[in-house]
Amino acid sequence: RTVYVNGEYLPEDRATVSIFDRGFLMADGVYEVVSVLDGKLLDFDGHIERLKRSLSELSMGNPLTDEEYLNVQRTLIENNGITDGMIYLQVTRGNPGDRDFAYPPEDTVPTVVMFTQAKPGLADNPAAKTGWKVISVEDLRWSRRDIKTVQLLYPSMAKMEAKARGVDDAWLVEDGQVTEGTSNNAYIVKGNTIITRALSHDILHGITRAAVLRFASEAQMKVEERSFTIAEAQAADEAFITSASAFVMPVVEIDGAAVGAGQVGPVATRLREIYLEEMRKAAV
Ligand code: PMP
Repeated sequence: RTVYVNGEYLPEDRATVSIFDRGFLMADGVYEVVSVLDGKLLDFDGHIERLKRSLSELSMGNPLTDEEYLNVQRTLIENNGITDGMIYLQVTRGNPGDRDFAYPPEDTVPTVVMFTQAKPGLADNPAAKTGWKVISVEDLRWSRRDIKTVQLLYPSMAKMEAKARGVDDAWLVEDGQVTEGTSNNAYIVKGNTIITRALSHDILHGITRAAVLRFASEAQMKVEERSFTIAEAQAADEAFITSASAFVMPVVEIDGAAVGAGQVGPVATRLREIYLEEMRKAAV
């Protein structure tokens, strides 16, 4: 596999980054994951806009132009023969040559890394037919979850807890209300209404979330942006999550209780279809 690091395309076993890089020492960096279907990027613009916002919230410069990001991603898709899969993009504050809590001088060059991951049949994931089971765990992450940092240890721990308990993911709960999944936004459905937590510093502003809420409104569904509890989710007609790599994924069980009929419901199914159809059309 060919990967990109700081302006160079290299075989993955020859790509290296300094041990002094603040991404490595301090998780001082941000990332994006863009899905690829039929060799094309889904919602590239949305992801680059969020990348720039994350960088700016951390007072980090943006090392590449939008066009450069696009060119690198297309080159990697081409060189690695990716049909379905994703591109990982990471920007860290770079290597100031020493470890210090203070940010390094402005002229420190950020480290930019991009690589592909092949996922044949990504859009036909059989899990979309059976749905995910989730557990709830306390949300113990820091309070700026709107910045997409590489500091992912707590979500990893929550994912491991879910695995240990034989389910697919964990929903994080703070002050009795669901914030989001370990790596996705969380929704419930009541009748014709889709309910998902409002945007704030408490959750990541999902690129898939923005698209799905737009498509839901266009399909005459009602959207309510508000918090909900695990009990309300268990009593809902349907539940689902969204992310760039899982698209729209139904959730059929929460903490051992079936959601609605305990089966994949019509709203999540329809939204997944609309999302995939519209995103494929607009892919670049
Ligand atoms: N919340 C969290 C915590 C995430 O890590 C992700 C995926 N990166 C999402 C939500 C979904 O965001 P997106 O739709 O942009 O992939």
